[in-house]
Amino acid sequence: MSAGGEGVLDLAVVGAGPAGLAAAAAAGERGLVTAVFDESPVAGGRLLGQLHPVPGGWWVGRAEAARLVAAVEDRPTVSLRLGAGVYAAAREEGGFRLHASVSPTPVRARSLLVATGATELPVPLPGWNLPGVITAGAAQTLANVWGVEVGRRSFVVGLSPLAFAVALELSAAGVPPAAIAPPAPGPALAHLGPPAAQWREALRLARLGPVWARPGAALLASPALRRALLPRLPRSGLPLLGSRLRLNVAVEAVVGRESAEGVRLRRLDGDGRPVGPAWHEAADAVLLAGGLRPVPDLLRALGARMATVEELGGEVPVVDPDGATTVPGLYAAGNALGVEGAAVAMAQGRRAALAVAARLGRADGRAQAEARAAVERARADAPFAFHAGVAEGHRRIAALWQEGGGGDGRAV
Ligand SMILES: Cc1cc2nc3c(=O)[nH]c(=O)nc-3n(C[C@H](O)[C@H](O)[C@H](O)COP(=O)(O)OP(=O)(O)OC[C@H]3O[C@@H](n4cnc5c(N)ncnc54)[C@H](O)[C@@H]3O)c2cc1C
Repeated sequence: MSAGGEGVLDLAVVGAGPAGLAAAAAAGERGLVTAVFDESPVAGGRLLGQLHPVPGGWWVGRAEAARLVAAVEDRPTVSLRLGAGVYAAAREEGGFRLHASVSPTPVRARSLLVATGATELPVPLPGWNLPGVITAGAAQTLANVWGVEVGRRSFVVGLSPLAFAVALELSAAGVPPAAIAPPAPGPALAHLGPPAAQWREALRLARLGPVWARPGAALLASPALRRALLPRLPRSGLPLLGSRLRLNVAVEAVVGRESAEGVRLRRLDGDGRPVGPAWHEAADAVLLAGGLRPVPDLLRALGARMATVEELGGEVPVVDPDGATTVPGLYAAGNALGVEGAAVAMAQGRRAALAVAARLGRADGRAQAEARAAVERARADAPFAFHAGVAEGHRRIAALWQEGGGGDGRAV
């Protein structure tokens, strides 16, 4: 059977990001009849919006995505079905049944790989529904994929790695954000943690920052020094990426009549509590950067055992060393296993595809061992981690698997 014909697929892949595309290319290499579904009309997932400097130039996610798509299109047993959101999936005798938005009939597959990536955490400040307020990920796509200027005087709210990624990209595009600052604490923002936790997150990335960042981070890591020093920092912040990193002010609200015209700010004391009167500053775009969490929906719906692991960004499946879940034939790869960069996602996709191929006698133990080692290498080589302790998070999942799949959605 060809990948485009009727019948049962060897492998269905949900998500054509780096994990899903790398999996499809590896499955095609082994002759597996495979189809990749993505709700987006363009393949590449979050790779499309990524841009960062590497020694000697820039790493351009769009070019990487084009390379992966070419590798998939090279394989006659693989089909890429874009604009095809998988809205339901069920287990059935010998495999899975998927319902995708473009297929009038369900698709059947012996194995299923969920590579649905991550999503952004909300930053529900008062005024966040005004036009001109977008997420950092949306700003990445507008700027890096479509070349759209998101604002002349933009304000990034949040101290997640994504805040710094988007600031870097906007600076490279010649429109650095005016400022990067945390949101003010509030009941609707409890999931982001208090400012002190967000400061810790930002300081974790200090080794990638300018010369003041490392010694500054070391000083601010001590609560006593922080209480003494932070209130003395200039309210206008410190220079970073053509922008200003403002650690001792917080954004309370977005203000504007018909669209975002500015932000309302308060000072933060050394413990992260808002103090003193509020004031307004102009901004024509507000970019919310709360952070990322894995998308677990399909895995959970199919009955995979799940666990909540903070170091991996949230709820993830309990998996074996290849990404096989507790449901036979159901695999996960990429950010669905925990939020990491694209290189790790690609290696995880290949690893899962080779495990499926091995079940069909089309891959040997050596190929699988190499694929597992490639994931570890990609993780070790990553320029930064989205969450502290990611390797420990994966070890926790491995322990749950060894204990017999232990997790039941609870935090571990
Ligand atoms: C907003 C955002 C910004 C990011 N920025 C960076 C960055 O700057 N640098 C970095 O290293 N990493 C970044 N990441 C992390 C990024 O997710 C990884 O680098 C990498 O792209 C993960 O690959 P993936 O294949 O697991 O998922 P993704 O690249 O997210 O791909 C998942 C794909 O699944 C599709 N999908 C989801 N659900 C369905 C469904 N039900 N049916 C059909 N298709 C579906 C999506 O449309 C998407 O194309 C970002 C992530 C997000 C969410």
